[in-house]
Amino acid sequence: MPTSPQKVALVTGAARGIGLATARKFLAEGWRVGLLDIEGELLAKAVAGIGRGDDTLALTCDVSDATAVDAAMTALAQRFGRLDALVNNAGIAVFAPLMETSEADWRRVLEVNLTGPFLCTRAAVPLMREADGGAIVNITSISAVRASTLRSAYGTSKAGLAHLTKQLAVELASLSIRVNAVAPGPVDTAMAKQVHTQEIRADYHDAIPLNRYGLEEELAEAIYFLCSDRASYITGQILAVDGGFDAAGIGLP
Ligand code: NAD
Repeated sequence: MPTSPQKVALVTGAARGIGLATARKFLAEGWRVGLLDIEGELLAKAVAGIGRGDDTLALTCDVSDATAVDAAMTALAQRFGRLDALVNNAGIAVFAPLMETSEADWRRVLEVNLTGPFLCTRAAVPLMREADGGAIVNITSISAVRASTLRSAYGTSKAGLAHLTKQLAVELASLSIRVNAVAPGPVDTAMAKQVHTQEIRADYHDAIPLNRYGLEEELAEAIYFLCSDRASYITGQILAVDGGFDAAGIGLP
């Protein structure tokens, strides 16, 4: 019986946090993985730490740079010859009230969190087409559906990405490419350490029915599921992985 070819995933923002946990999950499931990140040194260390040289490819790249994204996709194609899943995970957060949000911060947040997934998806589609389809998972946030006093740029970028998810699910269905999103609640990564004050942390604990932050690995499970064949009839969906925060309907701290 012919064996099916090893599948390939590309995870952006994979040098640490949710992205790195997701890359590890794909590898554990037998996939080969391109790990893309803007932080070259951090990425090299992460990939060395995984220790699966034959199955991994480190790609230093800024997702908001179209030329760099296209070059990374070419390098991935040369190395692995196919692409079955793209996880648009790279993101940045600026938490500030409107009057303290600089134009530069506003533009950068939208460039990385919204234009980045657009560029990566556009570059990935021809490769997925050759593989007769694929799956894309965008990492949005509960900030896409809940407004707060601090997230005009971040929340708007994630709400845009949520809509892009539905838009592309409809548009790419004819190519057998499924597009979904995972919307994390708070996860204690480097990003959360940077923007979650003690006050925000305390409020989150009270507002989350499961009463704790999520783990990177819990996000990776959901992301992997949506990329796997087990989710073959799911497209255009946004899965909250947030300990019940969204269901409880309490405002963001
Ligand atoms: P993180 O800061 O630990 O990791 C993000 C990674 O993205 C980093 O390795 C960073 O170098 C990389 N990155 C940033 N800008 C990039 C760019 N322009 N090009 C390529 N790579 C870039 O953050 P995380 O918490 O693991 O976040 C992962 C995703 O989850 C983000 O999209 C974030 O918005 C989302 N999210 C996180 C939380 C949370 O509480 N941690 C909650 C909701 C959503």
